[in-house]
Amino acid sequence: MRIDLHCHSTASDGTDTPAELVRNAAAAGLDVVALTDHDTTRGYAEAIAAVPEGLTLVTGAELSCRIDGVSMHMLAYLFDPEEPELLAERELVRDDRVPRAHGMIAKLNELGVPVTWEQVARIAGDGSVGRPHVATALVELGVVPTVGDAFTADWLADGGRAFVEKHETDPFEAIRLIKGAGGVAVFAHPGAAKRGRTVPESAIAKMAAAGLDGIEVDHMDHEPETRARLRELAGELELLTTGSSDYHGSRKTCVLGEYTTDPEVYGEITRRATGASPVSGTGGGHSF
Ligand SMILES: [Zn+2]
Ligand SMILES: [Zn+2]
Repeated sequence: MRIDLHCHSTASDGTDTPAELVRNAAAAGLDVVALTDHDTTRGYAEAIAAVPEGLTLVTGAELSCRIDGVSMHMLAYLFDPEEPELLAERELVRDDRVPRAHGMIAKLNELGVPVTWEQVARIAGDGSVGRPHVATALVELGVVPTVGDAFTADWLADGGRAFVEKHETDPFEAIRLIKGAGGVAVFAHPGAAKRGRTVPESAIAKMAAAGLDGIEVDHMDHEPETRARLRELAGELELLTTGSSDYHGSRKTCVLGEYTTDPEVYGEITRRATGASPVSGTGGGHSF
């Protein structure tokens, strides 16, 4: 079984529509794929309707969190998308995205970059606008060669010259909300040092005590020694370990299924979740 538990669609900053994502996942030979757009469940209906036979879709989201000034992402799986408390928190984060993009554009204009809101909005299309869309605009304008090159202190990295903070959820609150909605909480790419400061292990231990289910270990932003240490830590804290592509379509270089999750871990995630069930493609209707 090939299981990829972290993928983005055009509902946030991926380039595949939700329907394209599930079709591409099947074509890539995956058995299970998770749709985990940033702070939104907007892609669910389209993805669920398009799940091909032989593929199982895990619904989820990647929630923007912050602890002691360090930004981090929390993956939430199989929660009830209608649960009002978690829904309200996602809306709070999402409603902050447009003013934040305007703020980054204003800072870039001050730095002499002629980026406009119209350009960034066009790039975002139907997706909830985010920093990668601003980064893509910088590539279009020839300011940087690739999207990744925009995520530096010179431009859009955390604390960078054109960076603007956004509303982010306290991770302990996120864990409480996810569990309250019947979901499973997995700390995304906890050792992604090239994205900025990482969360100390002592904080991960506290999150484990607060109900965190797992940590994402096999991820493109983790060096081999980081993965080894995270696996050790997960053992100490009795956390599940996952592996995922963090696929963004053509916005990033990773491909579907580049890293995968052990079937036993996947089974444990589905056993713990009570908010929603995975959706299997039957070639016909589906139950949810
Ligand atoms: Zn992330
Ligand atoms: Zn992601």
